[in-house]
Amino acid sequence: MSKNTGKLIFGPVPSRRLGRSLGVDILPLKTCNLNCIYCELGPTNAYTTEFVDLVPPKAIETAFLNYISKECATFDVVTITASGEPTLHSELGEIIETIKKNIDKPVAVLTNATTLPLPWVREALSKADLVLPSLDAASEETFRRINRPAKGIELAPIIKGLIKFREEYRGRLLLEILFVKDVNDSPEEIEALLKYTQQICPDEIQINTVARPPAVGWASPVGPDKLEEIAKLFGENARVITSYMGSKERVSSAPEEDELLEMIKRRPLSRDDFETLFGPYEKYALEKVGGLVEKGIIERRLLNNKEFYLVRAK
Ligand code: SF4
Repeated sequence: MSKNTGKLIFGPVPSRRLGRSLGVDILPLKTCNLNCIYCELGPTNAYTTEFVDLVPPKAIETAFLNYISKECATFDVVTITASGEPTLHSELGEIIETIKKNIDKPVAVLTNATTLPLPWVREALSKADLVLPSLDAASEETFRRINRPAKGIELAPIIKGLIKFREEYRGRLLLEILFVKDVNDSPEEIEALLKYTQQICPDEIQINTVARPPAVGWASPVGPDKLEEIAKLFGENARVITSYMGSKERVSSAPEEDELLEMIKRRPLSRDDFETLFGPYEKYALEKVGGLVEKGIIERRLLNNKEFYLVRAK
């Protein structure tokens, strides 16, 4: 079973977009310049708009080397990072290079795309094998409603940055659009998003919706039929992100309580995730998480009749 090496490395966790993903957290949890209503990490209590190197690249390299020298857990991809906006790290390019040097697996970066207008951010991101930016809105009004940006962040430069990045980038660009019911799923918004995606030309368009407990209780998922209809409109390189699509290899030992907590801090786990992740240790993991529920650290919440475990809000 994986250990949380100084809490910089976590997982592997099942990612609906990438398969079995080993997470590398390069900034403290929820370092972000947006406050998306659907964020599964909870609200952004304080925006970060400056570029920071709160976690030095050397510490990340040490944690990563420590992990791969000790662990036999299998994963499909190394992902930087699922728990904030990684392009706010001022040494992102160096971090990607370091990880690639040490492992023969694709390195992916998830980004909210807000920093793509900056040439040096695009250059840093171009070192990754896959880049997965988000674009949830085609109008400034919807952008403010769904992504709730920090002061000074506007949609138009982000879209220009995405187009520019596509022109420069030779790796795989997988654009995510996350639809929230009655927020960005109107025919007008979809048509405008379609126009922008045609200019961005990603390798794939990932149509997503609220699948884990969101930061804002009223952020509701769009139904599966409508998601399929939307995907058809976006053409043959669009697909709906549904269930877990990675390798089925599981952990090789039982998870400890602190490991479970670190995973859940970064991504609420559904009841189904326990089977996918822990296989023969599923029952043991559920007992451990039950202990965290009793201690009041973790809570259970239902979304679409599915049970999730997430960190209890303070
Ligand atoms: S979903 Fe991503 S971009 Fe949006 S608030 Fe959460 S961490 Fe930031």
